[in-house]
Amino acid sequence: MNNQYDVAILGGGLAGLTLALQLKQEEPTIRIAVLEMRKNEAPDSAHKVGESTVELGTYYLREVLGLGDYLDEYQLPKIGLRFYFSPQVKEQIDQRVELGAKGILPVPSHQIDRGIFENELTKRLLDLGVDVVLGARIKDVNLDHKKGHTVSYFKNGESQEITCNWVSDATGRVGLLKRKLGFEKPLEHNINAVWFRVKGEIDVNDWSDNEAWVNRLPSGLRRLGTIHFMGKGYWVWLIPLVSGNTSVGIVADPRFHDFATFNKLDKAMDWLKENEPLCAEKLEAYREEVIDFRVLKHYSHNSGRFYSTEKWGVVGEAGAFLDPFYSPGTDFIAIGNTWMSDLILRDFRGEDVASRAIIYERVHAAFFNSWVPIYNQQYELFGNTQVVLTKILWDWGVYWAIPTLLFTNRGYIKLEILRALFTTRDSLGIRLGKLNGQLQQFFRAWAKYGNEPFVKESLDFFDIPFLKKLHLDLELQLSEEDLIAKCEENLGVLEQMAAEIYRKVAAMHKGTPENMKINPYKFSLESTKEALLEQASQKGAIDTASNISNDLELIWLKEKLAI
Ligand SMILES: Cc1cc2nc3c(=O)[nH]c(=O)nc-3n(C[C@H](O)[C@H](O)[C@H](O)COP(=O)(O)OP(=O)(O)OC[C@H]3O[C@@H](n4cnc5c(N)ncnc54)[C@H](O)[C@@H]3O)c2cc1C
Repeated sequence: MNNQYDVAILGGGLAGLTLALQLKQEEPTIRIAVLEMRKNEAPDSAHKVGESTVELGTYYLREVLGLGDYLDEYQLPKIGLRFYFSPQVKEQIDQRVELGAKGILPVPSHQIDRGIFENELTKRLLDLGVDVVLGARIKDVNLDHKKGHTVSYFKNGESQEITCNWVSDATGRVGLLKRKLGFEKPLEHNINAVWFRVKGEIDVNDWSDNEAWVNRLPSGLRRLGTIHFMGKGYWVWLIPLVSGNTSVGIVADPRFHDFATFNKLDKAMDWLKENEPLCAEKLEAYREEVIDFRVLKHYSHNSGRFYSTEKWGVVGEAGAFLDPFYSPGTDFIAIGNTWMSDLILRDFRGEDVASRAIIYERVHAAFFNSWVPIYNQQYELFGNTQVVLTKILWDWGVYWAIPTLLFTNRGYIKLEILRALFTTRDSLGIRLGKLNGQLQQFFRAWAKYGNEPFVKESLDFFDIPFLKKLHLDLELQLSEEDLIAKCEENLGVLEQMAAEIYRKVAAMHKGTPENMKINPYKFSLESTKEALLEQASQKGAIDTASNISNDLELIWLKEKLAI
C-alpha cells in the first residue's frame, strides 16, 4: 500500500464509502484511502441504523452514484413513508387514519440493509483501485494544508501513517475532527431512540381481517413502506429488510416518554404494550428472534464547521444530524458529499476553491438550521391526527418543491443558483425559511384547540394533484434559468398551500370568512379575529387559489370515533 494520497477519508460508513465512490467515478486517477475501524465484513440486518431512503438520497444513490441496477436487484423497493394516526384506536389498525401511497411510486426510494450495502460499496471501491483499509483505527490527524495532512492509525497493533492533500472526516458520531478542533455544536432538539432487528418478515397488512382495509392497496405493498405508528411524543417504525428480517424502532421525546422506560429490550416491549399494544402483541411472536438492541440518547447534534478553505471537511454524521422522522439521513449525506467532492475535484484539477468552500459551508449551515423547526418541539403534535397529518403534507410539499428539486438538478454546486436563491436579504431561501418557521409555529398553536378523534379515513398524497405534481416534477431536468424560475413558482404554490391551511383553520376556530385573504408570512392563530381581518386588507394578503383549495379538501378529516 502506498502512503501518499490525494484524499484520506476517515471512516468507511455510508458517508465515507459513497464519497469515495463519487470521487473515484468522477475522477479515476484520484488516489483515495478510506480508513475504517471495522475489521471484517459488516453483518446482514443488524449493522447500522438508517435503512429507509427518501427521494433526494435515493437520487444520489441511483443517479449520481449509478447504483440503480444494484438497488433494484439486491435491496428492497420502498413504497414511501406510511403513517398510522388515531391514537384513540391503537388496538385496531384498520380503524386508524392511514397516510401512505396506494400504489408503486414513480420516483423511487429503497429500504436498505446497511451491512449488505456497505460490503457492496467496499467491494466496488476496491475494484476501482481505492485503498479501503479495514481494521484501521485512526489515532490522530495532523492538519497542514500546505505540506500535506498526516493521518496516523493503528492496524494489527502497529502504528501507520499516510499523507494526503485533503482530509474528509466521515467517522460518524465519533466526530474525530469536530472533537479535535472543538467545533461541536449542541442542538436544543432532544429526542431519544432505540431500535432492534427481528428475524422474519412483519407485514402490517396481516394485522386485520377487514377485507376492505386489506384490499385498499395491492398485496405486499403495505409491508414495503416505512411504517410509522404515531402517538403523543413518539413514533414507532417498522422497516422491512431484504434479508427477510425487520427493523423496529421507538423514537420518543423525553418530555413525554422517559428514556428509562424503554432503553432495554424488556422495557421497550413493556413500553410498546402500553403505547402501541397491537404492535407489541404482534412482536411478541418474535421475542426469541431479536437479533440486536441499540440505544441512542439525544441523537441530534449540529456542527460549527463543514468545509474548510484549508482542505478538510466533515460529511455524514461527523457533521450534523437532525432527526430520522422523515428518513433524511441519506439526504444530508448526499448533499454534503456533493459539496465535499466538488471542492476536492476542482482543487485536484487546479482551481482555487477557497470562495466555494466558504459559500458551501454557509449554505450548508443555513440549510440545516432552517430544517430544525420541522422537528423541534413538534413531537408533541404526533398524537393529534388532523394537525400532524396536515404538517406531514406540508413538510413533504416543501421537501419536494425546493431542496429535492435543486438536488435532482445538481443545483447545489452551481454558484449562480446558490446566489440567486440564497444570498440576498429577500432571497427565496430566506422567504422559505420564514414561511416554514411560521407554519411550524402555527401547527403547535393549532394543536391547542383540541384533539379530535378522527378515525378510519385513508389518504394518499397522490390524491392531492398539486402535491403529486411537485413529486412528479422531480423528474424534470431544467436549465439554470428554468430551475430558478421553477423554485420561485413552487414557492408560490407553497404560499398558497400555507394560506389555504390558515384560512380553513381560522374559519374553524376564529370564525373568520372562508374566503378571507391571508398573508402567509404573517398569519398567527394567536391573533384576534379583528386583527386577522385587518391583516386581510393589507399588502401581502393573498386570495384563495381555487385549485389548491379544492385539492386540499381531501385533507380535512370528517369521520370521528363515536364516543
Ligand atoms: C434512530 C435513527 C434512525 C435513522 N434512520 C434513518 C433512516 O431511516 N434513513 C436514513 O437515511 N438515515 C437514518 N438515520 C441516519 C443514519 O443512520 C446516518 O445518516 C448514517 O448512518 C450516517 O452515516 P455515516 O457514514 O456518517 O456514519 P457511520 O455509518 O456511523 O460511519 C462512521 C464510520 O466511521 C468509523 N469510525 C469511527 N471512528 C473511527 C476511527 N477512529 N478510526 C476508523 N474508523 C472510525 C466507524 O466504524 C463507522 O463505520 C437514522 C439515525 C438515527 C439516529
